[in-house]
Amino acid sequence: MTGFLADLTGSFATSAAQNPTVAVMEAAYSHAGIDVRYINCEVPPERLGDAVRGAIGMGWLGFNCSIPHKVAILDYLDAMAPSAGIIGAVNCVINRDGHLTGENTDGQGFVRSLQTVVDPTGKDMVVLGAGGAARAIAVESALAGARSITIVNRTVERGTELAALVSDRTPATGAFVHWSGTYAVPDGVDILVNATSIGFHPSTETPDVDDATIRPGMVVADVVANPPDTAFLQRAAARGATTLQGLGMLVNQALTNARLWTGRDLDASVMRRALEESLR
Ligand code: NDP
Repeated sequence: MTGFLADLTGSFATSAAQNPTVAVMEAAYSHAGIDVRYINCEVPPERLGDAVRGAIGMGWLGFNCSIPHKVAILDYLDAMAPSAGIIGAVNCVINRDGHLTGENTDGQGFVRSLQTVVDPTGKDMVVLGAGGAARAIAVESALAGARSITIVNRTVERGTELAALVSDRTPATGAFVHWSGTYAVPDGVDILVNATSIGFHPSTETPDVDDATIRPGMVVADVVANPPDTAFLQRAAARGATTLQGLGMLVNQALTNARLWTGRDLDASVMRRALEESLR
């Protein structure tokens, strides 16, 4: 801390108004007693370059990019972390004297959260969805040692592309299953992840998966963080599965972002409480 001059971090997205990350980060910075701020900025696509130059000009430590900037930001970076390069999208930028490095902490946050209930090493995983979240989760889980990743997606092109990415660029085996009708989880699957937007508040829809194929001992995770205990997780818990909420992924990526920007390990429980309060 230097007098009245705080270090700056933040987020560029549109629309930004419903993003609770600012509450999470500011609570954790304040709890750690460090003079760092997190500014939530509404940045339309045609202003991304101006926003990035502004952050460099003002000496920000770094920033998050959310929808719709996660791929467009690549044009402004000097370097990318290896996994972000494979995923092809960046949600966290670190600024060191105007040199910008891109990371993808979505998938890292998921894996850290997953590791609180199961070690992905050698596991067989099914990922429902093939969008940005699914891509980050599939690649990071594969790099963390998962044996196989099966992508189950409604749109064939997106799904086959992600399965091929897993096979070609990670040590895991990638496979694709076209999601048309009720999906039956094959025997032997250890981890099932809903990485679609199905079930996001106010929707109470659940992914079309055959409940009878969800078994005790399986880990079932949801990326949807609002509500934290989704109807899908409730269905899985009723079948005896171990469930993992999307809140853990959000908190763990926020922890990683803060570490990359400030070098500090912030308090996960403070972040989780702030997130739960803002979702309420
Ligand atoms: P995208 O739009 O990139 O991808 C959405 C995916 O969901 C696609 O695979 C899409 O299939 C699938 N999908 C959507 N609706 C349906 C449906 N009715 N039936 C079958 N498939 C469907 O979104 P993101 O990947 O960016 O985000 C997905 C979710 O992850 C969101 O809810 C988001 O909030 C959450 N998220 C959570 C994070 C966390 O930290 N907890 C971090 C990042 C995201 P198709 O390809 O066929 O269109």
